[in-house]
Amino acid sequence: MPKPVIFTIDDDSSVLNSVERDLRARYGQEYRILPIDSGKAALGYLKRLQQRNETVALFLVDQRMPEMSGVEFLEEAIKAYPQAKRVLLTAYADTQAAIDSINEVRLDYYLMKPWHPPEERLYPILTELLEDWKIHVRLPYEGIRVAGTLWSLSSHQVKDFLTRHQIPYQWLDIEKDSNARQLVEGVSSEGSKLPVVFFPDGKTLVQPDLKELAEKVGLQTRAALPFYDIVVVGSGPAGLASAVYAGSEGYHCIVIEKAAPGGQAGSSPKIENYLGFPTGISGDDLTRRAVSQAKRFGVEILSAQEAKQAFVKDAYRIVRLSDGTEISCHALLVATGASFHMLKMPGAAQLTGAGIYYGAAYTEAMHYKDQNVFVVGGANSAAQGAIYLSQFARKVTVLIRGPQPTASKYLIDALEENQKIELLHNTDLIGVKGMNTLEQIIIKNTISDETQTCDAAAMFVFIGVRPQSQIVSDLVKCDEKGYIFTGADLLLDKKPPQGWTLERDPFLLETSIPGIFAAGDVRFGTSHRVASAVGEGAIAFAFMKEYLKSL
Ligand SMILES: Cc1cc2nc3c(=O)[nH]c(=O)nc-3n(C[C@H](O)[C@H](O)[C@H](O)COP(=O)(O)OP(=O)(O)OC[C@H]3O[C@@H](n4cnc5c(N)ncnc54)[C@H](O)[C@@H]3O)c2cc1C
Repeated sequence: MPKPVIFTIDDDSSVLNSVERDLRARYGQEYRILPIDSGKAALGYLKRLQQRNETVALFLVDQRMPEMSGVEFLEEAIKAYPQAKRVLLTAYADTQAAIDSINEVRLDYYLMKPWHPPEERLYPILTELLEDWKIHVRLPYEGIRVAGTLWSLSSHQVKDFLTRHQIPYQWLDIEKDSNARQLVEGVSSEGSKLPVVFFPDGKTLVQPDLKELAEKVGLQTRAALPFYDIVVVGSGPAGLASAVYAGSEGYHCIVIEKAAPGGQAGSSPKIENYLGFPTGISGDDLTRRAVSQAKRFGVEILSAQEAKQAFVKDAYRIVRLSDGTEISCHALLVATGASFHMLKMPGAAQLTGAGIYYGAAYTEAMHYKDQNVFVVGGANSAAQGAIYLSQFARKVTVLIRGPQPTASKYLIDALEENQKIELLHNTDLIGVKGMNTLEQIIIKNTISDETQTCDAAAMFVFIGVRPQSQIVSDLVKCDEKGYIFTGADLLLDKKPPQGWTLERDPFLLETSIPGIFAAGDVRFGTSHRVASAVGEGAIAFAFMKEYLKSL
């Protein structure tokens, strides 16, 4: 596929040459840099690009040009390439025009001339815009294609995995698209094995497991070293925060993730209560930023690798992965978070991925356009899911077990204001029905005991969470639900727990085994919030550092 284009337009040839040189130096590998000396000529060129089905990622345009101003050019150009990012090059005198154009052409940024040094004044801005463009752009399709049915769990898992890794793909529903069906039949002899993933190099994977898929799309699944200063299990906000601090201070750090980075926060359509983002930030955006930050500091992040067990050997803390390999370290952080409870009623397991989804509003929501869907749960995650789904569904009914949702006030207000959302209080889900896909659900009012059967295209379940502490549950002290005790919670009559071998008490966020720490939703006493997880990850690193110094 041809490289996406970065257009730069300036009538002053010395400025144009200088921008071109700076752009080429940083982005030339990934993008085609097209310098043009007038807006009119550039519009002609755009037409040719459209005919060749090429993509434009960014327009970097001088505002002050004789034939056509930068804003006038952008007005025309975005008709052809609405997804391209727009940056205006301005002099101080053009500031007002630039500010006006923020609304007129949805300008993304205006840069003051001169922009030197580009490392400080040009690249950080353009890189962020281009990263954002990459995530949201719909490329003319020559990329990965996933062919399956809406009702196959493994199709859902593959789509979810790619989405959570922010890897673009095209979904081909073989029930609706006969060409796609033929394509699948040509590859999967059994026909029933779905999905089939088609790659641009002509290779295919039939019903791949996530590790196979991760390797094929170029994600890291194996550690580069046998030993690290710090191993972090789990790449939710707690794990990533700790890794960023560890990497930034020069420690060898690796993060092991069984699914995709971001954890629960990564599946949030909009986090509105995280400091510094007054209009909210989506979980995938926050994750993308955190992953780039960690990688920039040299942290390795393994995807689709489950940590199965942690154990201690002398001064080493060792993690065994699902493929049998072992990674050892001096300090281990368990940041494995929590997962939603699964429904236990008859039929629910078979319909998972075929109409019943656990918190996966993101990947499946748009398939339920103009249909009636249900959300189970009344906490923040359920409320966000309902609000997100209401953008697509005809109606979203939220089943709340208690008399009120337990979500934060701003979310309850949003639920109540939303015309498409109905809240059913004091309501229990008691049954699910459907042959191959979810068709109906049975609900009961817990006050009147009245039951009701409702047609349901899909149901998104956000009920309760349980800690994912299995890798250390035999090793460190946990409460009866599996939440890991740390720091002062381990002390009994001011004394450290039985078996504790050191003179000092456990550090804050240290577990009952020296050198093994826990942070975030998996920890006893945490507050199940993004900010708490991030804070705990950072604090855990500070104490891991103390621990490492003591070795
Ligand atoms: C839909 C939704 C919306 C939310 N919205 C908000 C909000 O608006 N504001 C807010 O403050 N909070 C919100 N939360 C809560 C917040 O996301 C969590 O409190 C936070 O993500 C906890 O972070 P964590 O790092 O402790 O764990 P998690 O985010 O749960 O991450 C843990 C990670 O560890 C991985 N893992 C688990 N076990 C293993 C293993 N054995 N091997 C390898 N990897 C493993 C998991 O796959 C996961 O990626 C929301 C949660 C959900 C589900």
